[in-house]
This record gives sequence, structure tokens and C-alpha cells, in this order.
Amino acid sequence: MRVSGPQTLVIDADDTLWENNIYFEQAWEEFFEYLSHSSLTAEQARAIFDEIEIANIKVNGYGAKNFAKNMVTCYRHLVEREIGAGDLERVMGFADRILRQPIEMLAGVEETLEYLLHRSHDLILFTKGEAEEQRLKIDRSPVGRFFKSFEIVREKDVAAYRELCGRFGLKNEVTWMIGNSPKSDINPALEAGMNAVFVPHERTWTLEQTPLREAGPGRLVVVEKFGDLQNIF
Ligand SMILES: [Mg+2]
Repeated sequence: MRVSGPQTLVIDADDTLWENNIYFEQAWEEFFEYLSHSSLTAEQARAIFDEIEIANIKVNGYGAKNFAKNMVTCYRHLVEREIGAGDLERVMGFADRILRQPIEMLAGVEETLEYLLHRSHDLILFTKGEAEEQRLKIDRSPVGRFFKSFEIVREKDVAAYRELCGRFGLKNEVTWMIGNSPKSDINPALEAGMNAVFVPHERTWTLEQTPLREAGPGRLVVVEKFGDLQNIF
């Protein structure tokens, strides 16, 4: 399928433009090893951690600093030995490393952004999370010159998409949300009336995974990789 004419492409950042979730997974693996629990499997411990995350995200939001706090909460909850001096700093340290990761762009992203810009499409980066952390990632990445605007919100829900469309005066028929998360990118954008392109990432965070909702004909395209956008736009 090829779309004709200039479009507005609203593009997710984490795990769409660059690697992100793998660093959280690494931190979690280090945490679980350090916890060294006598009976819980990694899956059982992760399920408990996910519960803590789901509850705390509603109050505190996303991001590595909140992830670190959630790991400390989980550690206090599950640890079987007395908590010693330095233990909690050690746990925080697993997540602090996420903030210092160099940005690793996904394959084909930069040349595809270049192509999209050359084709006269309007590009808006739309990401959720802790504003300062997201801003730092954008600043450390090479994508600055491609986007006309960078929008960081606390949660990418239907209301956030409606607000974005209203603020920029976006017309649904020529506006596309492009991202790796069914929960935060594709489903709420479709519900808000936009079109969408799902670009799956094999290491997408489990809490972002949900079935894709039904869309009208031509409103949802599923591709294999970011570079495939060059076949659509
Ligand atoms: Mg993402």
C-alpha cells in the first residue's frame, strides 16, 4: 500500500527509533540475580514486580528513576536476608545505568527519516515518560533535525492523541501514528481517528503488549521494520 500526498507522521521514539526496553530488561536480570531468592522463579518475581510497576506508574509515571524506586520497593518486599548497608544503593544502581546508556539507533531509522523529510511529510516525535529523561535521549540522538516538534506526555492515551491533533490542527485522514506499542501507539491513535503503522520490536515491554484493535480498511498497516515506511509514504 502506498499513500499519496504529504502526510503528518507522528512517530514514537523508544523502541521505534532507538533501543530502550533492552536496558530495563538487563537491569531487571541483574536485580533478580542479586535478590538471589530461594524459591521464586524469575517469572514469579517478575509478576510481583509488574504489579508494583502498574500501581506506581499511575502515581509516579514512567522512566528509569521510577523504575529504580520500584525495584527498591520490590527488593524490600521479596528479600530474604537482612537489608545491609549499601544494598538499596546497589539495587538503584542497576537502574541508574539505564540513564547513562548511549543512544543506539535502530537499523534503517536515520536514512528513513531523511527519506520521509525529503518526501515533504511533516514529522512530529511523540513520546511518553519522564520529561527530563526523554528530553535527554532526544538531545543525545541524531534525530533533532528531522522533526518539526517534540512532544513528551505522561501517558499516550486517547485523550493525549485528541489533544495533540487539536493543538496541531491535524486532519485524521492524512495523519499517521507510527510505533512499536499496540497499547500506547496504535490502539489509542486509531480510537482517536488517526491512521497507524505498527512497527513491531521483538523486545517490546510486556506491559505495552495487547492485541491490535480492529481498524477500517487502509487505516492500519503492519510492517516488519522502520525502513519499510519508505514503501508506504
Ligand atoms: Mg515505543
